[in-house]
Amino acid sequence: NLQGTWELSNGVRMPYFGLGVWKAEDGKEVINAVKWALAAGYRHIDTAKAYDNEEGVGKAIKESGIPREDIFLTSKLWNSDQGYEATLEAFEKTLSRLDTDYLDLYLIHWPVEGKYKDTWRALEKLYKDGKIKAIGVSNFLEHHLKDLMQDAEIKPMVDQLEFHPWLVQKDLQKFCKENGIQYEAWSPLMQGKAFKNETLKQLGEKYSKSPAHIVLRWDLQNGVITIPKSTSKDHIESNAAIFDFELTEEDMQTINALDKHERIGPDPDNFD
Ligand code: NAD
Repeated sequence: NLQGTWELSNGVRMPYFGLGVWKAEDGKEVINAVKWALAAGYRHIDTAKAYDNEEGVGKAIKESGIPREDIFLTSKLWNSDQGYEATLEAFEKTLSRLDTDYLDLYLIHWPVEGKYKDTWRALEKLYKDGKIKAIGVSNFLEHHLKDLMQDAEIKPMVDQLEFHPWLVQKDLQKFCKENGIQYEAWSPLMQGKAFKNETLKQLGEKYSKSPAHIVLRWDLQNGVITIPKSTSKDHIESNAAIFDFELTEEDMQTINALDKHERIGPDPDNFD
Protein backbone atom coordinates (compact mmCIF):
# COMPACT_ATOMS: atom_id res chain seq x y z
CA ASN A 1 0.00 0.00 0.00
CA LEU A 2 1.62 3.22 -1.24
CA GLN A 3 0.08 5.18 1.62
CA GLY A 4 1.02 2.65 4.28
CA THR A 5 2.78 3.90 7.40
CA TRP A 6 5.01 2.68 10.20
CA GLU A 7 4.77 3.98 13.73
CA LEU A 8 7.68 6.01 15.10
CA SER A 9 8.75 5.76 18.76
CA ASN A 10 6.49 8.69 19.72
CA GLY A 11 3.39 7.19 18.06
CA VAL A 12 3.50 9.39 14.91
CA ARG A 13 2.83 7.39 11.75
CA MET A 14 5.30 7.90 8.90
CA PRO A 15 4.60 6.74 5.32
CA TYR A 16 7.27 4.18 4.45
CA PHE A 17 7.41 5.33 0.81
CA GLY A 18 7.98 8.91 -0.33
CA LEU A 19 9.43 11.22 -2.96
CA GLY A 20 12.93 12.68 -2.57
CA VAL A 21 13.54 16.02 -4.29
CA TRP A 22 17.29 16.61 -4.04
CA LYS A 23 18.51 18.33 -7.25
CA ALA A 24 14.95 19.05 -8.40
CA GLU A 25 15.10 22.68 -9.42
CA ASP A 26 12.93 25.15 -7.54
CA GLY A 27 9.99 26.32 -9.63
CA LYS A 28 8.38 24.27 -12.35
CA GLU A 29 10.56 21.17 -12.02
CA VAL A 30 9.98 20.53 -8.32
CA ILE A 31 6.37 21.76 -8.41
CA ASN A 32 5.50 19.29 -11.17
CA ALA A 33 7.35 16.42 -9.51
CA VAL A 34 5.56 16.91 -6.18
CA LYS A 35 2.16 17.36 -7.82
CA TRP A 36 2.60 14.23 -9.97
CA ALA A 37 3.68 12.26 -6.92
CA LEU A 38 0.71 13.42 -4.85
CA ALA A 39 -1.67 12.68 -7.73
CA ALA A 40 -0.16 9.20 -7.99
CA GLY A 41 -0.88 8.59 -4.31
CA TYR A 42 2.43 9.50 -2.62
CA ARG A 43 1.84 11.18 0.76
CA HIS A 44 5.43 11.78 1.87
CA ILE A 45 7.84 14.40 0.52
CA ASP A 46 11.50 14.74 1.53
CA THR A 47 13.18 18.11 1.04
CA ALA A 48 15.87 20.15 2.81
CA LYS A 49 17.01 23.73 3.16
CA ALA A 50 20.11 22.73 1.17
CA TYR A 51 18.01 21.59 -1.81
CA ASP A 52 16.91 25.19 -2.43
CA ASN A 53 13.42 24.08 -3.43
CA GLU A 54 11.32 24.40 -0.28
CA GLU A 55 9.24 27.18 -1.86
CA GLY A 56 8.33 25.02 -4.82
CA VAL A 57 7.47 22.08 -2.56
CA GLY A 58 5.17 24.35 -0.53
CA LYS A 59 3.48 25.68 -3.67
CA ALA A 60 2.94 22.19 -5.06
CA ILE A 61 1.32 21.03 -1.82
CA LYS A 62 -1.03 24.03 -1.84
CA GLU A 63 -1.87 23.62 -5.52
CA SER A 64 -2.46 19.87 -5.18
CA GLY A 65 -5.61 20.52 -3.16
CA ILE A 66 -4.69 17.67 -0.83
CA PRO A 67 -5.11 18.70 2.81
CA ARG A 68 -1.78 19.53 4.47
CA GLU A 69 -2.50 17.09 7.30
CA ASP A 70 -2.71 14.21 4.81
CA ILE A 71 0.88 14.82 3.70
CA PHE A 72 4.02 13.86 5.63
CA LEU A 73 6.53 16.64 5.04
CA THR A 74 10.20 16.34 5.97
CA SER A 75 12.87 19.04 5.82
CA LYS A 76 16.42 19.23 7.12
CA LEU A 77 18.52 21.77 8.94
CA TRP A 78 21.65 22.73 7.01
CA ASN A 79 25.16 22.57 8.50
CA SER A 80 25.81 26.33 8.54
CA ASP A 81 22.61 26.82 10.57
CA GLN A 82 23.64 24.52 13.42
CA GLY A 83 23.70 25.83 17.01
CA TYR A 84 20.75 26.54 19.32
CA GLU A 85 19.63 30.04 18.25
CA ALA A 86 20.60 29.60 14.60
CA THR A 87 18.50 26.42 14.43
CA LEU A 88 15.41 28.15 15.81
CA GLU A 89 15.82 30.90 13.20
CA ALA A 90 16.50 28.51 10.32
CA PHE A 91 13.45 26.46 11.24
CA GLU A 92 11.14 29.48 11.03
CA LYS A 93 12.55 30.32 7.59
CA THR A 94 12.00 26.76 6.41
CA LEU A 95 8.39 26.88 7.61
CA SER A 96 7.82 30.16 5.84
CA ARG A 97 9.35 28.95 2.55
CA LEU A 98 7.22 25.80 2.75
CA ASP A 99 4.21 28.00 3.55
CA THR A 100 3.11 25.79 6.42
CA ASP A 101 2.88 26.12 10.18
CA TYR A 102 4.39 22.78 11.15
CA LEU A 103 6.68 20.02 9.89
CA ASP A 104 6.04 16.32 10.22
CA LEU A 105 9.75 15.57 10.50
CA TYR A 106 12.79 17.82 10.88
CA LEU A 107 16.26 16.29 10.60
CA ILE A 108 19.77 17.48 11.42
CA HIS A 109 21.24 17.02 7.92
CA TRP A 110 24.83 16.12 8.97
CA PRO A 111 26.56 15.56 12.34
CA VAL A 112 28.58 18.78 12.60
CA GLU A 113 31.07 18.11 15.41
CA GLY A 114 30.81 20.36 18.43
CA LYS A 115 27.44 21.70 17.33
CA TYR A 116 24.94 18.91 16.94
CA LYS A 117 24.07 18.71 20.65
CA ASP A 118 23.04 22.39 20.84
CA THR A 119 21.19 21.91 17.58
CA TRP A 120 19.37 18.92 19.03
CA ARG A 121 18.27 20.97 22.08
CA ALA A 122 16.63 23.42 19.66
CA LEU A 123 14.84 20.56 17.87
CA GLU A 124 13.64 19.27 21.25
CA LYS A 125 12.24 22.71 22.05
CA LEU A 126 10.46 22.99 18.67
CA TYR A 127 9.07 19.48 19.19
CA LYS A 128 7.79 20.33 22.67
CA ASP A 129 6.27 23.54 21.31
CA GLY A 130 4.28 21.39 18.88
CA LYS A 131 5.85 22.82 15.74
CA ILE A 132 7.31 19.48 14.60
CA LYS A 133 5.55 16.12 14.90
CA ALA A 134 8.79 14.11 14.96
CA ILE A 135 12.49 14.96 15.18
CA GLY A 136 15.47 13.07 13.91
CA VAL A 137 18.90 13.09 12.39
CA SER A 138 20.58 12.22 9.13
CA ASN A 139 24.00 10.75 8.47
CA PHE A 140 24.54 9.95 12.15
CA LEU A 141 26.62 6.80 12.61
CA GLU A 142 26.44 4.70 15.79
CA HIS A 143 29.06 6.77 17.63
CA HIS A 144 27.23 10.03 16.78
CA LEU A 145 23.94 8.57 17.98
CA LYS A 146 25.45 7.30 21.22
CA ASP A 147 27.10 10.65 21.87
CA LEU A 148 23.91 12.58 21.11
CA MET A 149 21.73 10.32 23.24
CA GLN A 150 24.03 10.69 26.24
CA ASP A 151 22.78 14.25 26.70
CA ALA A 152 19.49 14.19 24.85
CA GLU A 153 16.18 14.39 26.62
CA ILE A 154 14.37 12.94 23.62
CA LYS A 155 15.83 10.18 21.43
CA PRO A 156 15.89 10.80 17.66
CA MET A 157 12.89 9.12 16.07
CA VAL A 158 14.49 8.70 12.63
CA ASP A 159 17.99 8.42 11.16
CA GLN A 160 18.14 9.02 7.40
CA LEU A 161 21.23 7.35 5.96
CA GLU A 162 22.79 6.31 2.70
CA PHE A 163 21.38 2.82 2.18
CA HIS A 164 21.38 0.57 -0.87
CA PRO A 165 22.70 -2.88 -1.81
CA TRP A 166 26.34 -1.68 -1.80
CA LEU A 167 26.08 -0.12 1.67
CA VAL A 168 23.97 -2.22 4.00
CA GLN A 169 25.50 -1.37 7.44
CA LYS A 170 23.66 -4.18 9.27
CA ASP A 171 25.18 -3.23 12.65
CA LEU A 172 23.92 0.32 12.36
CA GLN A 173 20.48 -0.95 11.37
CA LYS A 174 20.49 -3.22 14.41
CA PHE A 175 21.59 -0.40 16.72
CA CYS A 176 18.81 1.85 15.41
CA LYS A 177 16.24 -0.88 15.86
CA GLU A 178 17.32 -1.55 19.44
CA ASN A 179 17.01 2.14 20.21
CA GLY A 180 13.64 2.73 18.56
CA ILE A 181 15.17 4.82 15.79
CA GLN A 182 13.49 4.31 12.40
CA TYR A 183 16.01 3.71 9.59
CA GLU A 184 15.39 5.69 6.41
CA ALA A 185 17.28 5.24 3.13
CA TRP A 186 18.73 8.01 1.02
CA SER A 187 19.93 7.37 -2.54
CA PRO A 188 17.99 4.09 -2.52
CA LEU A 189 18.45 3.77 -6.31
CA MET A 190 22.18 4.41 -5.92
CA GLN A 191 21.62 7.65 -7.84
CA GLY A 192 20.75 5.60 -10.91
CA LYS A 193 23.50 2.95 -10.62
CA ALA A 194 20.89 0.37 -9.55
CA PHE A 195 19.72 0.18 -13.16
CA LYS A 196 23.09 -1.14 -14.33
CA ASN A 197 23.51 -3.85 -11.71
CA GLU A 198 23.31 -7.33 -13.25
CA THR A 199 21.87 -9.04 -10.16
CA LEU A 200 19.14 -6.44 -9.79
CA LYS A 201 18.39 -6.65 -13.52
CA GLN A 202 18.10 -10.44 -13.34
CA LEU A 203 15.82 -10.26 -10.31
CA GLY A 204 13.78 -7.67 -12.17
CA GLU A 205 13.27 -10.14 -15.00
CA LYS A 206 12.31 -12.88 -12.57
CA TYR A 207 9.55 -10.76 -11.01
CA SER A 208 8.68 -8.82 -14.22
CA LYS A 209 9.77 -5.64 -12.46
CA SER A 210 12.49 -3.01 -12.95
CA PRO A 211 15.72 -2.95 -10.91
CA ALA A 212 14.25 0.11 -9.14
CA HIS A 213 11.27 -1.94 -7.98
CA ILE A 214 13.55 -4.69 -6.71
CA VAL A 215 15.65 -2.34 -4.56
CA LEU A 216 12.69 -0.35 -3.25
CA ARG A 217 10.88 -3.55 -2.32
CA TRP A 218 14.06 -4.81 -0.62
CA ASP A 219 14.11 -1.56 1.43
CA LEU A 220 10.58 -2.06 2.70
CA GLN A 221 11.05 -5.77 3.42
CA ASN A 222 14.10 -4.69 5.46
CA GLY A 223 11.94 -2.30 7.48
CA VAL A 224 13.64 0.71 5.93
CA ILE A 225 11.71 3.80 4.79
CA THR A 226 12.56 4.77 1.22
CA ILE A 227 12.38 8.03 -0.77
CA PRO A 228 13.41 7.50 -4.42
CA LYS A 229 13.93 10.69 -6.39
CA SER A 230 12.65 11.45 -9.84
CA THR A 231 11.32 14.48 -11.67
CA SER A 232 9.86 12.44 -14.52
CA LYS A 233 6.12 11.76 -14.37
CA ASP A 234 6.54 8.24 -15.75
CA HIS A 235 9.26 7.29 -13.28
CA ILE A 236 7.46 8.85 -10.31
CA GLU A 237 4.39 6.82 -11.15
CA SER A 238 6.18 3.60 -12.01
CA ASN A 239 8.55 3.63 -8.99
CA ALA A 240 5.54 3.24 -6.71
CA ALA A 241 4.54 -0.09 -8.26
CA ILE A 242 6.12 -2.19 -5.53
CA PHE A 243 3.10 -3.29 -3.57
CA ASP A 244 1.95 -6.17 -5.76
CA PHE A 245 4.87 -8.56 -5.28
CA GLU A 246 7.14 -9.90 -2.58
CA LEU A 247 10.80 -10.90 -2.71
CA THR A 248 11.56 -14.37 -1.38
CA GLU A 249 13.88 -14.69 1.61
CA GLU A 250 16.49 -16.19 -0.71
CA ASP A 251 16.32 -13.20 -3.07
CA MET A 252 16.53 -10.82 -0.08
CA GLN A 253 19.78 -12.58 0.88
CA THR A 254 21.07 -12.38 -2.70
CA ILE A 255 20.64 -8.61 -2.57
CA ASN A 256 22.17 -8.37 0.92
CA ALA A 257 25.20 -10.20 -0.47
CA LEU A 258 25.89 -7.35 -2.93
CA ASP A 259 27.19 -5.31 0.03
CA LYS A 260 30.60 -3.76 -0.73
CA HIS A 261 30.64 -1.28 2.17
CA GLU A 262 30.86 1.29 -0.59
CA ARG A 263 29.53 4.82 -0.35
CA ILE A 264 28.23 6.89 -3.24
CA GLY A 265 27.88 10.00 -1.10
CA PRO A 266 30.08 11.63 1.55
CA ASP A 267 31.35 9.82 4.63
CA PRO A 268 29.60 11.16 7.77
CA ASP A 269 32.97 11.13 9.54
CA ASN A 270 34.54 13.27 6.87
CA PHE A 271 32.31 15.70 4.99
CA ASP A 272 32.47 19.40 4.19
P1 NAD B 1 18.13 8.04 -5.93
O1 NAD B 1 18.95 6.90 -5.49
O2 NAD B 1 16.74 8.15 -5.49
O3 NAD B 1 18.24 8.06 -7.52
C1 NAD B 1 17.72 9.10 -8.26
C2 NAD B 1 18.18 8.97 -9.71
O4 NAD B 1 17.56 7.86 -10.34
C3 NAD B 1 17.78 10.20 -10.51
O5 NAD B 1 18.82 10.50 -11.40
C4 NAD B 1 16.54 9.76 -11.25
O6 NAD B 1 16.39 10.44 -12.47
C5 NAD B 1 16.82 8.29 -11.47
N1 NAD B 1 15.57 7.51 -11.54
C6 NAD B 1 14.58 7.46 -10.61
N2 NAD B 1 13.61 6.61 -10.98
C7 NAD B 1 13.99 6.10 -12.17
C8 NAD B 1 13.39 5.16 -13.07
N3 NAD B 1 12.24 4.58 -12.78
N4 NAD B 1 14.07 4.87 -14.21
C9 NAD B 1 15.25 5.45 -14.49
N5 NAD B 1 15.87 6.35 -13.68
C10 NAD B 1 15.24 6.67 -12.54
O7 NAD B 1 18.98 9.36 -5.56
P2 NAD B 1 18.93 10.56 -4.55
O8 NAD B 1 18.16 11.68 -5.11
O9 NAD B 1 20.34 10.79 -4.19
O10 NAD B 1 18.23 10.00 -3.21
C11 NAD B 1 16.83 10.08 -2.98
C12 NAD B 1 16.48 11.17 -1.98
O11 NAD B 1 17.18 10.96 -0.74
C13 NAD B 1 16.95 12.58 -2.38
O12 NAD B 1 16.17 13.15 -3.40
C14 NAD B 1 16.86 13.28 -1.07
O13 NAD B 1 15.52 13.60 -0.76
C15 NAD B 1 17.41 12.22 -0.12
N6 NAD B 1 18.86 12.38 0.13
C16 NAD B 1 19.25 12.72 1.39
C17 NAD B 1 20.60 12.86 1.69
C18 NAD B 1 21.00 13.21 3.07
O14 NAD B 1 22.16 13.56 3.29
N7 NAD B 1 20.11 13.15 4.03
C19 NAD B 1 21.57 12.66 0.70
C20 NAD B 1 21.15 12.29 -0.59
C21 NAD B 1 19.80 12.15 -0.85
